[in-house]
Formats: sequence, C-alpha cells, structure tokens
Amino acid sequence: MVCDMPARTITFASSDQRDAREGPLQMHCPFCRHPDSRVIDSRTLDDGSAIRRRRECPNCHRRFTTLETSTLTVLKRSGVTEPFSREKITAGVRKASQSRPVTDDQIALLAQGVEEQIRSMGSSIIDANDIGTAILGPLRELDTVAYLRFASVYSAFNSLEDFEDAIAGLKGLEGTAGSPSGAGGGEAPGPGVDPVD
Ligand SMILES: [Zn+2]
Repeated sequence: MVCDMPARTITFASSDQRDAREGPLQMHCPFCRHPDSRVIDSRTLDDGSAIRRRRECPNCHRRFTTLETSTLTVLKRSGVTEPFSREKITAGVRKASQSRPVTDDQIALLAQGVEEQIRSMGSSIIDANDIGTAILGPLRELDTVAYLRFASVYSAFNSLEDFEDAIAGLKGLEGTAGSPSGAGGGEAPGPGVDPVD
C-alpha cells in the first residue's frame, strides 16, 4: 500500500444541518477533484475516535487516505461555531449555583447527562440554544434558584416578564409535582412579582 497522501480530516454533518456549516460533505479526489471515491480499506483508530479509510479514485485510480471524525460543533447565536465543551456546561452551571447547596459531583453528573443527551441527537452541529435548554431541565430539578440564574443568562432575559414567566413555570411545576422542595421560601427574586400564566 503506497502512502501517497497524508490523511485528511473530514467531518460529517447530517443533511438538514448543511446550511449551518461550510465544510465539504463529500470527499473529492485530491488529485483530479473527482467528486467520488471508493473505499478499499477502513479501520477504526484504537481509541474509537475516528475511522481511517483508504480510498481509490474511480477516475484517476490514485489512492488517498481520509480520517473521519465525528465532532460536535456548537453554533452560537452570533453565527460563530466552536467545538463542544463539557467544561463550559460545568462552568456555567457552577457559576449559576454559587452559594447554593449544589455539589461539584452533582454538577459533573448534570454536565455528563447533558452531553449524552446532546450526542444522542446524532447531529454534528448543535445549536447553543439547544444546549441551554438541555441544561435547564436537570438544573431545575437540582436547584430552582440556580435554574433561574442560569435561565436569566442563557435565555437572555431582558425584562421582568421573562423572570415572571420562568417563575410561573416553576410554580406550575411545583403545583403538579407537589414536591416538598421548600423553594417557596425567601429565595424568589423580585418583590411584588405577580406571576402571570
Ligand atoms: Zn482522481
């Protein structure tokens, strides 16, 4: 087997996410730009992080290697993309949980669960909003104050009504769940808040 080209990295995106990225979805032959290639050998890297494929161009019959990785990219509201980072989830939740009875272990578990949920969507590009939404559910279970803090930043609350809606949502949840979480204490931010439905 002739090693004529260094491995090239290509990243897969599901077709419905195509608009969100500019990366090539198809591997052109690096020699003649033929838009198709035949896989003649394929092996998974030891750590399972990527698949190395040996390909042959049906047009010029030259061979090249591709390294296919499944990455998770976050599309931010600004349109900027960045690699997914569980650390960022941990940092964001930790910040929102400051001075709250939330342990590092609980935060780590939450971040792990969120990452698993996101990866299970099977998309290589994830909207930053979707990550925020995925965090909100478990964080609400963990600590309602941390939840409100996080929601106010992540959902870019910019009015009292946003807080009112979130609090109304929490109260509605409490009403149905009937959980003795004791969240109705002096923790609710903003006096005179009149929850609207
Ligand atoms: Zn070719």
